[in-house]
Amino acid sequence: MSITPLMPVYPRCGVRPVRGENCHLISEDGTRYLDFASGIAVNLLGHSHEHLIGAIQRQAATLMHVSNLYGSPQGESLAQRLVDLTFADTVFFTNSGAEAVECAIKTARAYHQSAGNTDRYELITFKNAFHGRTMATISASNQDKMHKGFLPLLEGFKYVDFDDLEGAKAAIGPHTAGFLVEPIQGEGGIRAASDEFLQGLRDLADEHDLLLIFDEVQCGVARTGTLYAYEQYGLTPDIMATAKGIGGGFPMGACLATEKAARGMVVGTHGSTYGGNPLAMAAGEAVLDVVANDTFLAEVRAKGERLRGRLEQFIGNYPELFDSVRGRGLMLGVKLKIEPRGFVAHLRDRHQLLTVAAGDNTVRVLPPLVIDDSHIDEFMDRLSAGAASYQPEAVA
Ligand SMILES: *Cc1c(COP(=O)(O)O)cnc(C)c1O
Repeated sequence: MSITPLMPVYPRCGVRPVRGENCHLISEDGTRYLDFASGIAVNLLGHSHEHLIGAIQRQAATLMHVSNLYGSPQGESLAQRLVDLTFADTVFFTNSGAEAVECAIKTARAYHQSAGNTDRYELITFKNAFHGRTMATISASNQDKMHKGFLPLLEGFKYVDFDDLEGAKAAIGPHTAGFLVEPIQGEGGIRAASDEFLQGLRDLADEHDLLLIFDEVQCGVARTGTLYAYEQYGLTPDIMATAKGIGGGFPMGACLATEKAARGMVVGTHGSTYGGNPLAMAAGEAVLDVVANDTFLAEVRAKGERLRGRLEQFIGNYPELFDSVRGRGLMLGVKLKIEPRGFVAHLRDRHQLLTVAAGDNTVRVLPPLVIDDSHIDEFMDRLSAGAASYQPEAVA
């Protein structure tokens, strides 16, 4: 037998973390890495945050799981908090980002179908988007590399260029149910939508009775310096998927919606065995305790500006390697002039610095939100050593 016990769907690197300490990861062989990837925007509070650990420990000893057939004081409490903090009136808890997007897609279809509009099932989505790896969420993305081997796709998605309002408008037809968009594309390369684009989608949605769905799985939960990125655009979606950072490392997600948008989601229409379990709710509450206040959010913005300023100053030293810096808050991307995977591996293996590659030749910089200036200094030291020693093979 040559297949590995772990199904070999990931190109796993040699780093094998066994422990986390604040903003560092320690591997099996004792090597210490600066973690500016945070499990891809998940470990908002770093790796050993006492408030989060305490909340999970206490809840694990009290009650981990009960069926959604019973009342949920824990779920009601966190849902109420999210409702108070956002545009939403109601929340469905999931275990992952893809499930949150899946619920958003179902909510949009049910909105129209519950009103008798059975032909309005199509979502307009945007090129180079990433919405997850289930059949519905790969169907929502135009990326062939995720489709290959898994055809046929789910019907009902139309792909348009990101940030192309005219294209989105032209794609509206008799089957259109709404738009599904990441306000800031993550996997696509830390590309923020323009104000005009999102406002234009909002206006089109209002005009044509369409639903505006935001996928904030990566950009949400304080990452960009506001609790959700949409706040910075001065508008609200009808439905939103959130996950990644929301549990601070505990698997959880949520689909948020207005009362109107959720009109089709009535008893018996959707469900999840684990979604909203008390343990996940405790993790979610603990994360909100820390991040959902003006002081913390202002700090994220300030740290983001400091890090961005340092990066912008620095990249000019290596004009053949670096193109530009982009992103908001602590969701930053450094666009390279070459394919980024080699450089990400070099930073990791030679300089013990963890970042993540993304589309559009971008290196993602997604540190825990609890970094301090010493971590920014350490990051810049390792990055500049990495840039100085990097010899891309591809250049020859
Ligand atoms: C990661 C991600 C998802 C999928 O989340 P999973 O928890 O891996 O299912 C969906 N949308 C966006 C924008 C993401 O970054």
